[in-house]
Amino acid sequence: MDCETLKCHHCSAEAGTTAAIYSLESGVTSDCRPWNEKVRIFVCPACSAVQAPINEAWRGSVEKIYRDYDTYAAAGGEEQKVLDSDGMSARSRVIIGWLASLGLLSPRGEVLDVGCGRGAFLREFTGQFQEWSLSGTEFDDRNARMLQQLPRFKGLQTARFDKLSGEYDAISMVHVLEHIEDPVACLEALRRRARNGALLLVQVPDWSENPFALAIADHATHFTPAILERVARRAGWEPVVTPGQVVPKELTLLARAGGDCTASNKADEEVESRLDERLSWLRGVRHQAQALRQNAANFGIFGTAVAGTWLAGAPDMEVEFFVDEDPSRIGAKHLGIPIISPGDAAEGSDVFVGMAPAVSKRLAGKYRDAAARFHAVKLLDAL
Ligand SMILES: [Zn+2]
Repeated sequence: MDCETLKCHHCSAEAGTTAAIYSLESGVTSDCRPWNEKVRIFVCPACSAVQAPINEAWRGSVEKIYRDYDTYAAAGGEEQKVLDSDGMSARSRVIIGWLASLGLLSPRGEVLDVGCGRGAFLREFTGQFQEWSLSGTEFDDRNARMLQQLPRFKGLQTARFDKLSGEYDAISMVHVLEHIEDPVACLEALRRRARNGALLLVQVPDWSENPFALAIADHATHFTPAILERVARRAGWEPVVTPGQVVPKELTLLARAGGDCTASNKADEEVESRLDERLSWLRGVRHQAQALRQNAANFGIFGTAVAGTWLAGAPDMEVEFFVDEDPSRIGAKHLGIPIISPGDAAEGSDVFVGMAPAVSKRLAGKYRDAAARFHAVKLLDAL
């Protein structure tokens, strides 16, 4: 394994540090396109933050990815669905339901959604907290007209984090912080826009539960609960709810502006061995899919999001069809390959359910009696 002198972007006060580089032969973009370049990851020896080495090559790749970025394009603009206790439900609805159940938000206030996209989170938010005014940020104003349709929408800002204006009672960042080169500076800038006692909600992927998140080429940080809390504290936000799994496979942090915000570096040796284990599992799952492909007459992959796209982009992986349960995707194409419903997969064909272990096992079990054969990924404990 190669070692390089690298600079951690969490405890960057320290000079460069020597760390081992872990890599995957190819990756996937966060908007679900195959990425045919190596994905490189290291663990900071001082603070155990799992991250991409940020250099000119990484910045160049990310710029290329964002140039063609099209959020949720595969779903025809529909938000990604997540699993909750009631079955399939939009990710935002799960978060808002949880937020309401905590009873921490006043009846009225102002919310800023950072990286608001087409307004999926704000739409759910206003459904639950009807007297709040809404604001959003994005890197351009392409969705401005759509956002202005939202009730009590005050405005969209496209400035950098340190140039944002206004004061807010709640700030949300759903699947944004993992993209940011300097997450502490970003949360500090948002802290300056927070009223006294304001709440911050951050959600990022949990690679420990869903190792496919490690293959995403444009993620700067692969958060663990400890690093997410430490980043928040450093930026002046005191966690009120420890990052837990409000939404399966995701880490959700709720913090309040001010309070006790001290945080020191702490290395955790277990993080590196867990990363190594998860990356081996990913490579194993890819081999599993390739072996199945070689022996199948008709081969499909279940899922058209990050995991399915990463697997479909593997060498020698000719995919005849994708399978998806989401009605908004069925009948469309992903990577030029048709998407069909699980029940429509032909008899004798093999479908690889390449998803996070818990989801894969559940789905393969659910379609046990279908015409096609559904194959689950190997479990993480079976390493
Ligand atoms: Zn560090």
